Amino acid sequence: MSMGTISAAYIAAAILFILSLAGLSNQESSKRGNWYGIIGMVIAVVATIMNESVDSYGWLILAAVIGGTIGARLAAKVEMTQMPELIAILHSFVGMAAVLVGFASYFDPASNLHGAAETIHNVEVYLGILIGAVTFTGSVVAFGKLNGKIGSKPLLLPMRHQLNIGAVVLWFIIGSWFLGTDHGEGTFPLILMTLIAFAFGVHMVMAIGGADMPVVISMLNSYSGWAAAATGFMLSNDLLIVVGALVGSSGAILSYIMCRAMNRNFVSVIMGGFGTASSTDDDGEEQGEAIAIQAEEVAQLMSDAGKVVIVPGYGMAVANAQHAVSDLTKQLRDKGVDVQFAIHPVAGRMPGHMNVLLAEANVPYDIVLEMDEINDELSDVDVVVVIGANDIVNPAALENPNSPIAGMPVLEVWNAKTVIVSKRSMATGYAGVENPLFFKDNTRMLFGDAKDSVDAIKSSL
Ligand code: NDP
Repeated sequence: MSMGTISAAYIAAAILFILSLAGLSNQESSKRGNWYGIIGMVIAVVATIMNESVDSYGWLILAAVIGGTIGARLAAKVEMTQMPELIAILHSFVGMAAVLVGFASYFDPASNLHGAAETIHNVEVYLGILIGAVTFTGSVVAFGKLNGKIGSKPLLLPMRHQLNIGAVVLWFIIGSWFLGTDHGEGTFPLILMTLIAFAFGVHMVMAIGGADMPVVISMLNSYSGWAAAATGFMLSNDLLIVVGALVGSSGAILSYIMCRAMNRNFVSVIMGGFGTASSTDDDGEEQGEAIAIQAEEVAQLMSDAGKVVIVPGYGMAVANAQHAVSDLTKQLRDKGVDVQFAIHPVAGRMPGHMNVLLAEANVPYDIVLEMDEINDELSDVDVVVVIGANDIVNPAALENPNSPIAGMPVLEVWNAKTVIVSKRSMATGYAGVENPLFFKDNTRMLFGDAKDSVDAIKSSL
């Protein structure tokens, strides 16, 4: 394929990726957005393989078959609840790819660069490996935190801020050492910097507490984009630079949105320390007793209600209850009950988690409202049903300044006439914080698996 054709294909792919992002920003157009992304990626891969500098197809096919088989198997068997951890581990692959490409392009015997061109290339290599290494270990730790293999409590080493600053200073020193070495003799400083970057990635994510994990996910998403862009610079691949920049900047915007949703300062989140062991959520107050309710009574309350709001959370994903919830919604709407959904920006374990599940279960988009759109109206609601949510409806965020989630905006469901909470036990949510909502006078606990509970309500209706 001629260079002109390849450039044209790259431009087409870049435009499709931009259209894909635009499509994904809205539920109605998200399927179309996905298709644009798929077509763009096929064009990008084919055009890259057709490049005349690719002369050995054997290795390429072998790698594509191995990677494709693993990817297809994983995609087929991954549960919806495992999506966030899958995304985290995929970010780590992008990071590792940047590290490997960085080393390969540094050692490339065919590279014949001198003077300023060599310096620029070495800067690209250095930055690419640095960002890639931080992304790699950071994402691996995020993967562990999301699947529960690593505890969600932040690890706060003594002098952690000094350690982080020390790493940054060392990167500058090692960087100037690396750039001062003769052609091909910078391997040692490069490896040293990589090891520090690996340790930095682990330390950075380990220090971030449970409830702040959404920001970490979007931040690592952004890092993986910048790592890809750096790889693009190293390989002189314009499309990779464009795509990396798109992912990097959209991840940065998402991080900002997540921070705003959680009323957090981005820098403070990255520095770690929210949800720390030193802050307590317990003021030693007696919480009182939670009152249980049965599915039949919930069905009665719901069918008598004029207005019902459903608040889904992570437990709905665990129980795979979205289809049952969708059926229940239909049943109630057929009876003339006004049903709406209230979505907290960090509900579940990944940005947009609840929207994806509800869309999968064909819940109409126009009854799915964001927290800001519905919070003020909750006092006019007869029954709020909280399905497998906990942290996002915790009044302690507003009432207890010592709580690890203090300041985080939450869905103020307790303002409704009656609140039903469907969960299996009195256990805490991801942030590990007690929830006073369960003990309020107008709250009733519907114990059991969310799917079983919703099915029981449906049959009573
Ligand atoms: P939480 O993790 O706070 O609470 C989920 C609740 O669901 C648990 O208390 C659990 O209680 C219940 N549950 C679990 N399984 C079931 C089941 N089968 N049936 C019924 N209930 C069940 O979830 P929220 O959605 O309220 O809040 C999200 C939390 O996750 C926030 O702290 C957020 O910061 C964090 N987070 C969010 C990310 C994002 O991007 N959205 C990413 C990473 C973290 P029980 O065991 O008693 O059933």
